[in-house]
Amino acid sequence: MVSEIVLDDIQDVLITEEAIRNRVGELGGQIVADYEGKELILVGVLKGALMFIVDLARAIDLPLEIDFMAISSYGKSTASSGVVRIVKDLDTNIEGRHVLIVEDIVDTGLTLKYIREVLETRNPASLRICALLDKKKQRKADVRLDYLGFEIADQFVVGYGLDFAELYRNLAFIGILKPEKYADAQAMADRQLRGGNYQPGG
Ligand code: 5GP
Repeated sequence: MVSEIVLDDIQDVLITEEAIRNRVGELGGQIVADYEGKELILVGVLKGALMFIVDLARAIDLPLEIDFMAISSYGKSTASSGVVRIVKDLDTNIEGRHVLIVEDIVDTGLTLKYIREVLETRNPASLRICALLDKKKQRKADVRLDYLGFEIADQFVVGYGLDFAELYRNLAFIGILKPEKYADAQAMADRQLRGGNYQPGG
């Protein structure tokens, strides 16, 4: 159970723990049906997809491997530039293998487009995408989501692996932060950029 201190930062619960559990179970069933008789590699995109890939893997009753990639954006934000680089590559050679990319959330789609293009050059037998959340409104790149948990409105969410300033990943649900939490963090970042010593609340 997450402490009251963390829960106090949340304005709304958008998707409950139970709804996530049910949907992940359904996705697992769908994947089992589609990949029956095949061996699968789940590729999780760190860190946001951590919780999702762990639960999804347990819902897939097939022989499977798990591997991870970590991506970082050049410049200010992935969303605005779409220019990303691999900071941790796969340990596995995926040539001739069935690969399922597991992503937390798709916004502009630029990150997934990049990952898909990189992995495609390695000649997997098949390459599909499973995303927990989709914010369709912001889409800039045309990426096909083969499996999707939930479509959500264009708002910033945290929890179940998704962070804000590296916090809130440990929430069991998907939620929306209180607006003042963004303001606090923004003030802290601004002060640090200017070389000041910002003290929260100070
Ligand atoms: P895209 O390249 O599709 O614009 O961005 C995808 C990445 O942006 C996600 O993997 C995630 O790291 C981040 N992102 C996009 N929307 C949200 C959000 O609402 N909350 C959080 N925590 N991260 C997000």
